[in-house]
Amino acid sequence: MRCFNLVSRGFLSDNLKMGNLALSSSLVIVAATCSLLFMILALDRKERSLWTFTLAYAAAGTAFALIPLQSRLNPWISVAFAEIALFTAHLLLARGFRVFCGNKIKWPRRFWAYLAIEAAIVLVLMDDRHSTGLRTGAVSIGLILCGFECLLVFLREIPGVPDKTRRSLAGFISTFIAFQTIRITLLASLAATIHPFITAGTIEQYTYVITIIFFIIWFGAIMLLDSSRLIYEMARKNDLLESVALHDKLTGLFNRNSLDQVLKSEIERQDRYHAPLSLVLMDIDHFKRVNDLHGHDAGDRVLVEVAERVRGVIRESDMLFRWGGEEFLIISPETDGMGAGGLAEKLRIEIQAKPIDVAGAVTASFGVAERVEGESKDLWFQRVDQAMYRAKNSGRNRVEIWSAEQRLAAARLCINWQRGWNSGNIIIDREHRELVRLGNELLNTVISRAPSTDSLALFDDLATHIKTHFDNEEIILERVGYPDLAAHREIHRGLIVEIAGIRERFVENSSNPAPLFELLVNKIIMEHMLSADTQFFHYLGGKPAGGDLPLPEGSGKENEYGIDLEPPD
Ligand code: GH3
Ligand code: MG
Ligand code: MG
Repeated sequence: MRCFNLVSRGFLSDNLKMGNLALSSSLVIVAATCSLLFMILALDRKERSLWTFTLAYAAAGTAFALIPLQSRLNPWISVAFAEIALFTAHLLLARGFRVFCGNKIKWPRRFWAYLAIEAAIVLVLMDDRHSTGLRTGAVSIGLILCGFECLLVFLREIPGVPDKTRRSLAGFISTFIAFQTIRITLLASLAATIHPFITAGTIEQYTYVITIIFFIIWFGAIMLLDSSRLIYEMARKNDLLESVALHDKLTGLFNRNSLDQVLKSEIERQDRYHAPLSLVLMDIDHFKRVNDLHGHDAGDRVLVEVAERVRGVIRESDMLFRWGGEEFLIISPETDGMGAGGLAEKLRIEIQAKPIDVAGAVTASFGVAERVEGESKDLWFQRVDQAMYRAKNSGRNRVEIWSAEQRLAAARLCINWQRGWNSGNIIIDREHRELVRLGNELLNTVISRAPSTDSLALFDDLATHIKTHFDNEEIILERVGYPDLAAHREIHRGLIVEIAGIRERFVENSSNPAPLFELLVNKIIMEHMLSADTQFFHYLGGKPAGGDLPLPEGSGKENEYGIDLEPPD
């Protein structure tokens, strides 16, 4: 059997033959390069679709290498095998797109049927009696079929591929189909000699040029698809990470990490538009008991249920955060202190109204503070913290509002920690700082005219802290061999007696901050920390002379709401 081909039939001039040889060589180079690139990617990413594209380009490269050798090689190889390889390459492209886009059936049965029919047609038309044009036309129809198979993939939504990219790819495939249709038309015109200017040579050149372009564009399309999917995956993972970072796992509420961003913009908004802005801090009462009596899982369910109830009550514009273990925080824009107090009261009633099946009745306490324009975040949070403290100390299951006026008074009475007060011993310094913090809290509570029981409880906390601190300080001084330890001990004893005296005066008139000033500023800070204590500073030499001394409970830590111990300027 003799192969009919355009070159051997002498249709082409020598120049044209040379030109087509160059074009076909370019096709081989393009296909081989793309196949290699896909292989490198496939080896790296181990994805099936990439292996399929590697094979598709390898098949195309083989076909393009064989076609120009039609006059030299056995026609069963250079024609039949080459044309079937070209068809297979396009079928593999369709398979690659299906795999890439997550189609469940990667190689449908009909693909086998296409391949069998195409091979049969090519083999039958290899016979001398049939024209080459008929066979090449049949191959083109086969390629159009593959084009439609690719198009089918892009007609449906593809996860991770934007619609715009999908439509561009569908448009490109349609152009490919159009190109093959034109080719068939040209072949038919040639057979019917309708257009004298259409020669086999021009069709062949047209085919080569367009095929090179298309194989490059196929490659680009696959890369485009790949990069859009990677970008989508990255964006999805970013969203996921962001969501995990900003949300509490148990309740799904915003967590503390997200608060800073929200606060910054809300504070800026308030300062610009002068609209009220309030904070509501909520703490479930005796939550430890829930855990102790009903177990940690029941505790978790209570937290979820409480979060749900709060979510159901607050407005769209309010922002709810899980602030800590059993503490929640609401930022309420466009709401003044009274409005936020009303909201807190609604929440309080909602929480206590219905018992929670796993734990029975649950109540919560609330602190409310409206921000004053220009007020620092720390001071604002200190106020809401203090309001909560008051709610807890006034019997729980209640709302306490710390007004702006109270804030102004409190701001004037803040004792700021000074660098020079550092002794160089980590335990002593932490305890001194805690002492100042407790002192500030006590002063602010007195000034805010909180119930006298609150102030007294705080006074007792402070006195206990001072006593524990004195004991720890004495242990440390003994270890460093401080020679005046006995005298220092005496000073401590004297101060404890004085504290007891000041407490008595304080019980008589708990709204008068003067005795507290005397205790904190005169006795503890001026006379003791800045005078007697400085005597032993150089014995400590910055070394943690406490060694294995355990840190006393409640000392040396930031307060539980994360507010720095150093009060704001
Ligand atoms: P108060 O009325 O003074 O607020 O008392 P309280 O017991 O609620 O407060 P406290 O701070 O003493 O205890 C809070 C408890 O919350 C301690 C901690 O084990 C528990 N907790 C914190 N986070 C979680 C959590 O995610 N799940 C559960 N089940 N318990 C938690
Ligand atoms: Mg708490
Ligand atoms: Mg609590």
